[in-house]
Amino acid sequence: MMEVVWFKRDLRVADHAPLVEASRRGAVLPLYIVEPEVLAGEDYSACHWTFTAGCLRDLRRELAALGQPLVVRVGEALAVLQQIHAEHGIARLWSHEETGNAITYRRDLAVGRWARAAGIAWQETPNGGVVRRLQGRDGWARQWEARMGAAIVPAPEGLRGVGLEPGAIPEGRELGLGPDRTQGAQAGGARAGRTLLDSFLAGRGARYHLEMSSPVTAVNSCSRLSPHLAYGTISTRMVVQRLREQKGRAWSAFDARLHWRDHFMQKLEDEPAIELQNFVRGFDGLRENDFDGERFAAWAEGRTGYPMVDACMRCLREMGWINFRMRAMLMSFAAYHLWLHWRPVGLHLARLFVDYEPGIHWSQCQMQSGTTGINTLRIYNPLKQAEDHDPEGVFVRRWIPELDGGYPAPIVEHTEAVRAARARLGEFRRREGVWADIQQVARKHGSRKGRAPRPKRMAKQQLGLFDGEAAG
Ligand SMILES: Cc1cc2nc3c(=O)[nH]c(=O)nc-3n(C[C@H](O)[C@H](O)[C@H](O)COP(=O)(O)OP(=O)(O)OC[C@H]3O[C@@H](n4cnc5c(N)ncnc54)[C@H](O)[C@@H]3O)c2cc1C
Repeated sequence: MMEVVWFKRDLRVADHAPLVEASRRGAVLPLYIVEPEVLAGEDYSACHWTFTAGCLRDLRRELAALGQPLVVRVGEALAVLQQIHAEHGIARLWSHEETGNAITYRRDLAVGRWARAAGIAWQETPNGGVVRRLQGRDGWARQWEARMGAAIVPAPEGLRGVGLEPGAIPEGRELGLGPDRTQGAQAGGARAGRTLLDSFLAGRGARYHLEMSSPVTAVNSCSRLSPHLAYGTISTRMVVQRLREQKGRAWSAFDARLHWRDHFMQKLEDEPAIELQNFVRGFDGLRENDFDGERFAAWAEGRTGYPMVDACMRCLREMGWINFRMRAMLMSFAAYHLWLHWRPVGLHLARLFVDYEPGIHWSQCQMQSGTTGINTLRIYNPLKQAEDHDPEGVFVRRWIPELDGGYPAPIVEHTEAVRAARARLGEFRRREGVWADIQQVARKHGSRKGRAPRPKRMAKQQLGLFDGEAAG
């Protein structure tokens, strides 16, 4: 019989309570399962695997130093676990809770049913500030603080191994993934994560609050920890505790974003349907029947005729990362100017973001499209974004060399497109029942720091969206 530690989006040995607990009970099988169903998901792409494989190589090395290298198996999770149980016997299954997409959610339910039926205790531990089976948002921030302040769990001193063949860490093409088109994307692995945190706190981040919004400066002044947090090579608590050793505006701005991370992920944890459905169901039908494939292709390929939009998309396609403000602009342009539904737009972005994190991603996609109902309507003007954040045109010229000849005219006119978008949203918001839906979303998901939505403000602001939440 063996203790199986199932690694998912927690690819580290430090601050890993399940690993430590398992190591106290008996021989440990540290397991990573490469799941074809996850890889085949519409939100998955080769860049995710490249990063994951880097993390797995590092994790294997670190676990080997403790006494048992990481075991990698390819197959559906349930089938892999069933086989291990049949051949070796699983005493207990250990893992961190995962707030993933619909595929991993369904898989966890199936594994849970099987484990119960087979008499195997599956011990799940929270992985950050997201609270499972949360009853309501009141007091959530306090719970988050308590979790972030808890002692970091040191890596186990050693592991009693199980002597299983570790198995190869496959290449993307062996898994049937297409080519990874990113160049200069970030490397996976706990070592790379620690190095990033060190360099950010030692100087790179000193002007974070001033330089996070421009794509010219953000690339160096933001932490770039997002893929590491998404795949768990470092825990949020480890980052928060290191960060709080320093004082200053840059660090408090960074602290707030780490809080938002879990605040947004909590929404998907509480309501998995928001990956697929509008937060406010009264907005169903708002864009569903208006999808224009040509507009989508122009946006996705970076040829909308708006230099800042196109430069951001081309930069993202190559690097697998772009900063928050430019992500918000890309999303807002697709949703308002091009009137595209957030789901296909969000899927395209998910495949491009190395740091794809379903909980943040789908909440943000809906927020930047106006379907949450509770957030201030932010329609970014791409011309103003260029003036404010790339006044010399350095960024735009780097990514659009044909700007001085052969560059297309804008596919939509800004003022006209925004006017039409506001009118359509306004029409939906005035429909019967929509206001009640919005209040329900506010009760369930809204930050308790902001003001609650009130009908009076709604009338005054025409669209009446309230700024109850951080927008980044
Ligand atoms: C449409 C859209 C989609 C997004 N999708 C993702 C995604 O799939 N994965 C992802 O990690 N982030 C996503 N973000 C949030 C944000 O843009 C990235 O977290 C950030 O740009 C990552 O770079 P960084 O690590 O250098 O961030 P930093 O500015 O250094 O922030 C540190 C960490 O805080 C968290 N964070 C920062 N900003 C936000 C925010 N606004 N909301 C929630 N958490 C935040 C992230 O974990 C980030 O790594 C999305 C934003 C938008 C507008």
